[in-house]
Amino acid sequence: MENVMIVPVISKDPTLALPNRDFFIVDEYQTAINSYQNGNKQEIDSVERLANQVLNAPPTCLYCGSGITEFVVDSEGDVFPCQLLVSNKNFLIGNVYDTKEKLRQLLITSKQKYSKIFDKTKDNECQNCFLQFFCRGCPIAPYLLGNSMHIPHESCQLLKEVVKNSILIKAEKDFVESNS
Ligand code: SF4
Ligand code: SF4
Repeated sequence: MENVMIVPVISKDPTLALPNRDFFIVDEYQTAINSYQNGNKQEIDSVERLANQVLNAPPTCLYCGSGITEFVVDSEGDVFPCQLLVSNKNFLIGNVYDTKEKLRQLLITSKQKYSKIFDKTKDNECQNCFLQFFCRGCPIAPYLLGNSMHIPHESCQLLKEVVKNSILIKAEKDFVESNS
């Protein structure tokens, strides 16, 4: 085995759960931007990293590719859309020992199903957002925590502000460098 992927546990147990992880990460970027704007030019690396992540990300209308372009296979050969759903038979897609044609059809059906569920263009709050084709999110974590695959939007305003500021700072820096 050459590669092992370690995935955080999603739990309703408050002693195990990492609360609002996305907000936590965005908050760190906001701190870096504030620090840069207050004169700490060393923060430019963090600010540029975020701007580049957004500017270089392939555009997608999907929150996540699980069940569409990404699949997980357990030790029995069972195929699931996401590592958080392994062993949950409600989300079983098929098995690698199914015939090739059967598995192909099952994967196509899965792709059709999750392409609809994870489509940001169908989310009212995303329709007028400039990040509609650039942000990513985890629809399965809210499902496991509350039974809905609807992405929570409480950190979107801060995320949009942070992305906008990081891109403006990078554009200003690139402009100054290209004219010096
Ligand atoms: S930032 Fe929020 S509102 Fe905007 S596209 Fe992403 S999830 Fe939707
Ligand atoms: S649904 Fe969430 S945990 Fe699963 S692959 Fe997508 S982002 Fe990762």
